[in-house]
Amino acid sequence: MITLKEALKLPKEEMAALREDIRRRAEERSELNAYIAFDEAGEGVPLLIKDNIQVKGWNVTSASAILQGYVAPYNATVIEKIEAAGLSPFGRANMDEFAMGSSTESSFYGKTLNPHDPERVPGGSSGGSAAAVGAGVAIAALGSDTGGSIRQPAAFCGIVGMKPTYGRVSRWGLAAYSSSLDQIGPMTRNVEDAAILYDIISGHDSRDSTSADMEYTPVALNLNADRKLTVAVIENYIKDASKEVQSAYETAIKALEEAGHRVVRKEMMGAKYDIAAYYIIATAEASANLSRYDGIRYGNRAEGAENLKELYLKTRSEGFGEEVKRRILLGSFVLSSGYYDAYYLKAQRVRHLIKDEFEEVFKDADLILSPVAPTTAFRFGEMADPLQMYLSDVYTVGVNLAGLPAISLPVQKSDEGLPVGLQLIGKHFDEQTVFDGALSLERAVAYEK
Ligand code: GLN
Repeated sequence: MITLKEALKLPKEEMAALREDIRRRAEERSELNAYIAFDEAGEGVPLLIKDNIQVKGWNVTSASAILQGYVAPYNATVIEKIEAAGLSPFGRANMDEFAMGSSTESSFYGKTLNPHDPERVPGGSSGGSAAAVGAGVAIAALGSDTGGSIRQPAAFCGIVGMKPTYGRVSRWGLAAYSSSLDQIGPMTRNVEDAAILYDIISGHDSRDSTSADMEYTPVALNLNADRKLTVAVIENYIKDASKEVQSAYETAIKALEEAGHRVVRKEMMGAKYDIAAYYIIATAEASANLSRYDGIRYGNRAEGAENLKELYLKTRSEGFGEEVKRRILLGSFVLSSGYYDAYYLKAQRVRHLIKDEFEEVFKDADLILSPVAPTTAFRFGEMADPLQMYLSDVYTVGVNLAGLPAISLPVQKSDEGLPVGLQLIGKHFDEQTVFDGALSLERAVAYEK
């Protein structure tokens, strides 16, 4: 499969053939169910779009029944930016409903398969994006990451996925899950392509009030794998990970040292607080954000309701899946009077502590090396208990709570032939170092696709 860098250099006349080729490949692998649809908008380099990003004229649904029939009336800022750079939206990527999940099993359109093993999940929530890029049926894709949804499916499918610093990429036109955590980011076959796509979508946007109003220096042209960096490894983090993940961690540490980086060993308070704080804050924000889907303005409206209240109830009962309902209930609970202080406010305090702790580690390090997930891709149905699924996000959610940039890249394959990805976490707005470190690690481990 052609890289994004190469595709951007193709003469215009060859673009139609490229799009056709991608479509043919994707149709040949239709069993993966990575694409929800092959919608096209424009004639540039085809880029797969997660189904929660607005593309004007498309039926953008967040893989939910409640948004069937909804047609996006405008383009997200990232879509305007990719079009200005010669790319065009091509295909809607499957995902967990409203980006809530870690396996892409909760999609209205059915599950997506992992290209490395059809009995296993591709990860989630950006599972369609990751499976398509991993299977070579998309050049690159956009995903969104609220608590790991770019990085974890990237790790499960053997590709590169990057979550920018909170505020770096505009959220205008991204269906909100948890507004203080959500970021859009690139999912690609290699680090350089990720840097290229990251540059294209980044920058200030006055339509997103949380967008960082600061000067932007592109990273891709300044990529430098020869910088010598200090990388912190968190010793107590890794103990609960599977053998395969621990082995990849050792491989990466060795590779980093051999490439001339300094590795320092640190401890952190432990990720169990991350999960608790994340699932309170994310569900609280989700319960507010999803209140707009009531059958009046967006998408599907239930039939046969006798009055307004019944219309709301029926529309939401029929339109939302089980996991989304669970999150709305959890979120409403932690925000309700009497519980607000005990759960929501406490979680906000813990969020500050998590941020402070990262800052402490970054006093002596440029980057942190961490697992992305405790295991390689798990089997369908294996995480039937929702709490078990939440716990599998242990390594990713802290990064979102602290608003930091992080990149997930494949390091090696397990004995079963499954990819193992690790992440490099950087300081706020220091994406340059994140990409430089990732490029160096990518070269040092020479992962075979
Ligand atoms: N798995 C996490 C959740 O379910 C993260 C999802 C995401 O990043 N969108 O909330």
